Order: sequence, then structure tokens, then C-alpha cells
Amino acid sequence: MRKRPQVVIVGAGFGGLGAAEQLAHVPVEVTLIDRHNYHTFQPLLYQVATSLLNAEDVGAPVRSMFRHQENVSFRLGTVTGIDVPGHKIRPEDDKEIAYDYLVLAGGATVNYFNTPGAAEHAFPLYTLMNAVKLRNRILERFEAADRDPELIKEGALNFVIVGAGPTGVETAGALSDLFFNLLPHDFHQLATENARVIILDMGKEVLATFRENLRVYAKEELEERRVELRLGEAVTEVGPTFVRLKSGEEIKTHTLVWAGGVRANPLADMLGQPQGRGGRVKLSPDLSVPDHPEIFVVGDMGEVASDGKVLPQLGSVAMQSGEHVGRQIARRLGGEPGQPFKYWDKGFMATIGRGSAVVEFPNKRTLHGPLAYFAWLGVHLALLSGMRNRIETLWNWGWTALTHDRAARIIIEPKDDESQAFPKSVA
Ligand SMILES: Cc1cc2nc3c(=O)[nH]c(=O)nc-3n(C[C@H](O)[C@H](O)[C@H](O)COP(=O)(O)OP(=O)(O)OC[C@H]3O[C@@H](n4cnc5c(N)ncnc54)[C@H](O)[C@@H]3O)c2cc1C
Repeated sequence: MRKRPQVVIVGAGFGGLGAAEQLAHVPVEVTLIDRHNYHTFQPLLYQVATSLLNAEDVGAPVRSMFRHQENVSFRLGTVTGIDVPGHKIRPEDDKEIAYDYLVLAGGATVNYFNTPGAAEHAFPLYTLMNAVKLRNRILERFEAADRDPELIKEGALNFVIVGAGPTGVETAGALSDLFFNLLPHDFHQLATENARVIILDMGKEVLATFRENLRVYAKEELEERRVELRLGEAVTEVGPTFVRLKSGEEIKTHTLVWAGGVRANPLADMLGQPQGRGGRVKLSPDLSVPDHPEIFVVGDMGEVASDGKVLPQLGSVAMQSGEHVGRQIARRLGGEPGQPFKYWDKGFMATIGRGSAVVEFPNKRTLHGPLAYFAWLGVHLALLSGMRNRIETLWNWGWTALTHDRAARIIIEPKDDESQAFPKSVA
């Protein structure tokens, strides 16, 4: 019997999942490989970092997602090389995997723009482990300041966020709720009112890609929530206890969250193909690589365009581009010509803290305030993978709304595991 065409998909993010699901009824064998055994719902990572949700609520096991799709095999591994002429990918510590079609969906990674000290001292927010590390740091700094209040003068309770886009704004709003509404009840001796949340951005606006009325609303809401906005300020250096600005000013901080930019996954550099802004691979209209029609790039890694316009790096763009590529592979197998990608714009939204959000619809109409916040809750709940995650998330949100409590207020240090580690000879 003739072997079915092999489709290898690298990355089980929104793009990779979209492609794999679209291939459900296509006569191909799909290998979906990811460095984690779960899909991460990035839009809610800031809620893990700020103790609103448990890590497990925003991670869904990939194997369980494809339990009923038999043409998909999952492989846990990190891809470290691509043999483009040989049609193979190289996972670390594993044998090469051959492909007839390759779908690269590795997403994006943090871009520090070569800022000295940022890679060593800043906290990015792109993976579940990033979110857990940030949560540990936040809670641990409050514990440290409780033991030694002198640390407050050293900046232990100053939390600086670089980037006034949706991730920065959402994180700042959630930190403000945590610091000024919840932690004062936990720390009876600590002057929690001395905590500071500061957003730094080179640009002059918060949520710069949103319409003006929403930008004005977001700024006012943040200020009301005691978030300090330092706009038009560039970061020149990050240290363990400070951040230095272009003006020469130094702000004391032990925790700097980097929400200031992304670049395409380094896998994009391995193709040897032209790359656009942020290292995104330049693509043909059907999302294949111009010199290699058997390779497709979807989501944040690619310069995904619709009607000639390069699209922003969003979950919906990644999901739809993945689905499109799944359809293109099916068409190629059926001998049909490729089709250009067409994006269905559903608008975008961001929260600014409890009870407050902004929504911009595709027809440019806007919504803000509590109604927008409930719309945001509904959309994100619907988009989460898996019923169990939805129920747990709804439960956590409901619990927080009723009690002002946050379930995931625990410090889990990786070093706690050391006593349980397998001896080397057994592992
Ligand atoms: C904090 C944050 C908040 C966001 N909020 C929103 C929002 O509110 N709305 C919105 O629309 N978008 C939001 N986004 C953007 C959105 O999450 C991304 O656009 C989307 O996840 C991109 O999907 P993707 O499939 O391209 O990549 P990803 O979802 O990043 O998936 C990439 C996958 O590839 C895997 N991978 C990477 N490298 C390798 C390798 N070498 N080997 C094996 N596996 C690998 C990763 O583990 C990951 O599972 C947010 C992003 C972040 C970081």
C-alpha cells in the first residue's frame, strides 16, 4: 500500500492546532511536535502571573486534544534544525523526521532589542514557566519586604512593566488589583500601599493600536488604579535592582516585566529565506515559502498577510492561518491550485483590570467599561481549550469576583523539587 503523505507541524500553538485540526479528514499522516506536552493559552498568562488562575487552567495536554483524530501523532521534543533540501526536521536528542509538507508554527519569542541586562534580569511573559516564575517573584518580594521593610526603599515593591500594549496594560491592571485590593488583607504588618506599578513605553500612548477614545479611557482607568505611566521613555539598561532610562534617570526595581516586543522564533532564521520585521518569514499569498512550496509558515513566525496587508501577531490570525494551510495541503493533494489567505477580522480587546476592558469591533465601533469586560470574559472562556479548563477558569473568576480572593497565591520554586529528583543512575 502506498504510504500516505507525511505532514510535520512544528508547534502546538494556535497556528499548529488550526492546521492539525483542519487535516482531520485528509488522507495524510500528521506529526505534531512541540517542546511542551501542552498547548499554552497565551492571552491568559498574565492571570497566572498575577495569581488569578492556576498554571493548569491555561495549559491543555496536546495528546488529549487529538484523542479522537487518529491521523495525528504527537511528539514531545524541541526542533533544533531543519534540513530544507533533505525535507527533514531535527529534534534535539531524537532521530530526524522526514516530511512531504512542513508547517512551521513555532510562534514568537521575546525581543529585548539588545538592551543591556534585559536578558539576564527582565521577566518575559511568553510561556507558562515565564508566568509561574513571575508569580513566584512577585509574591516572594512581598514576603521579603514583610521580613525586612527596609527593602521597600530599595525598590522591592516597585514593579516596572516595559510596554504599554495589551500585555503590559493587562498585567499592570491585574497587579494593581492584587497589590491594592487583596494583599493588604494578607500582610498585616507591611505597608503595602507603598507598592508601585509603573508602565514604561517609548511611545506616547497606551494601547497605541486601539482607537483614540479607547486609548483615553485606558489611560484614565490605569491612573485611577494607581498605575504610574511613564510614556515617551526609553529603557537603556536593566540591572538586578534598577532600570535606567534614556534621560539618565534610574528607577529602583527588583522586578521588571518585559512586554516590549517580540521576534519570530529562531526556527525562522534556519530557512535561509527573506525575513521581514521582527524576523517574520516572508510568504507567498497562500502562506507557503516562495522558494519551497512544500513549507508553510503560520501564526507569529510568518509575515501573514491578507489582501496585501501584513497582519498583527494575534491568536485569531494564527488560528485562521493554520486552518488555511490545512486546506491548502488538502487542495494540493487533490491537484487543485493554491488560494491566497483571507483573514476574517473579528476585532480585538484588552482588559484594564477587574470590571474594565476595551473592545474594538471590525466595523470600528467600540465598547468600554464593565460591558466590555464581560464580553472579554465570555470570548476568552469560549476560546480556552477543553471543558475542564473552562470550568476551572470560570470557577476561579467567580470565586475572585465574590470574595476578592485569588486561589493561586502560592510560591512554587523549582528548587522545591530537588529532594524528589531521581538519582542519575535511575533516571
Ligand atoms: C502574554 C501574551 C498575551 C497575548 N494576548 C493576546 C490576546 O489577548 N489576543 C490575541 O489575539 N492574541 C494575544 N496574544 C498573541 C497570541 O497569543 C499569539 O499571536 C499566538 O499565540 C500565536 O500563535 P502561534 O501558533 O503562532 O504561536 P504560539 O501560540 O506561541 O505557539 C508556538 C508553539 O511552538 C512551540 N515551539 C516553539 N519553538 C519550538 C521548537 N523549537 N520545537 C518545538 N516546539 C516549539 C511552543 O512551545 C508553542 O507551543 C498574546 C501573546 C502573549 C505572549
